[in-house]
Amino acid sequence: MTNKKTQDLMEKLVSLCKRRGFIFQSSEIYGGINSCWDYGPLGVELKNNIKSYWWKSMTQFRDDIEGIDASILMHPLVWVTSGHVESFADPMVDCKSCKMRFRAEEVEGEKCPDCGGELTETRQFNLMFKTHMGAVEDEASVVYLRPETAQGIYVNFLNVLGPSRQKLPFGIAQIGKAFRNEISPGNFIFRSREFEQMEMQYFIHPREDEKWIEYWKEERIRWYHNLGIRKENLRFHLHDKKELAFYAKIAYDVEYNFPFSWKEIEGIHNRTDYDLSRHTQATAKDLTYFDDQTKDRFIPYIIETSAGVDRTMLVCLIDGYYEEVVKGEERTVLRLDPKIAPIKAGIYPLVKRDNMPEVAKKIEDLLRPHFKVFYDEGGAIGRRYRRQDEVGTPFGITVDSQTLEDETVTLRERDSMEQIRVKIDDLVGVLNKKIWGI
Ligand code: ATP
Repeated sequence: MTNKKTQDLMEKLVSLCKRRGFIFQSSEIYGGINSCWDYGPLGVELKNNIKSYWWKSMTQFRDDIEGIDASILMHPLVWVTSGHVESFADPMVDCKSCKMRFRAEEVEGEKCPDCGGELTETRQFNLMFKTHMGAVEDEASVVYLRPETAQGIYVNFLNVLGPSRQKLPFGIAQIGKAFRNEISPGNFIFRSREFEQMEMQYFIHPREDEKWIEYWKEERIRWYHNLGIRKENLRFHLHDKKELAFYAKIAYDVEYNFPFSWKEIEGIHNRTDYDLSRHTQATAKDLTYFDDQTKDRFIPYIIETSAGVDRTMLVCLIDGYYEEVVKGEERTVLRLDPKIAPIKAGIYPLVKRDNMPEVAKKIEDLLRPHFKVFYDEGGAIGRRYRRQDEVGTPFGITVDSQTLEDETVTLRERDSMEQIRVKIDDLVGVLNKKIWGI
């Protein structure tokens, strides 16, 4: 894709998100705050549906993963133990003239890319947000907003293992906010300073690490396929020695072909026994696992899958965005997978008379307990369809004169625009089948 096209697509998407209530700049009426975003009525639905699908995939469709929801503020020593206080830093340079700050890796040459000014030496810039707990703001009261959700899982390893009565291999999953004082946030919600992660830590016997990393690679890529993301836009990137975190034995990124380049959307890492060993050393708590069959005692290895909610949402929006001309008319359509579409069906009386609105309202009542639906009686039917196409609503249900005779409606599919007739009584079943395949 050319730069112009790339820019166009991102601009169009940002504008659609604002216009249709998906995503707004935070504190917009105050002029906004850089790299923080608010999710509007449709955005929060889409985001919740993505999270819910991940959560179900991890904790409901299988029996070896337990969920938790740990607090954002943790004991400050956790971040010393994890290595974040010492080394969660990006090398950065500042421009002495315009004061812009850049990641050192982004700057080619010795001059400011923006104004050509002189740059400072490279310095380390810790990405953790600091705040204070309690009334006194001194060094002793420093706490951090967590920069990843994973540590909340490690420190709860024993708490979960006991009550759940799981045996290795088993996992702990968590969805939650994380905060990083990124030097160069941008590309809309791709990189922000407050974001959400969906992380799963899978505890295994050390000698099975190669098997499980392969397993989780396949599981995770399949998850994106099931989310409707085009296969050709996804790939793995194997970390080379330079990229590999010091504690990791092997690491893959799942990458997506964003308009601005291939970029990471999820990390799948073999973190070895680093995390549990470090927490054992720091707390003197025994975080070993005893295998009562082999009588083996060891510190489990961890295979981590760490995905971003916001990045996944951006992928769904970009991958699903199409502009097409149908029967001489232009339409914009978001081909979101029905599982995650914010609204599952639009309900329309063909005209605003002959009892059609009343029948359509009854259908709305019938469907609301099962699906988020949207009733619309205003304007030409084609326009009403297109308004829902643009926000990814997969189905349109229209009440017309035939409905009044035989209690059937037309069911229009967003992508093919094909229409079939369905009995009103069968609608819940037909929609469930089409959305969930059940
Ligand atoms: P990057 O190299 O893009 O900064 P990372 O390697 O630091 O990412 P991880 O620490 O592996 O990212 O975090 C796991 C996932 O969390 C990422 O794949 C991404 O989806 C998400 N994520 C990380 N940082 C951000 C951010 N600043 N904004 C939005 N999502 C993020």
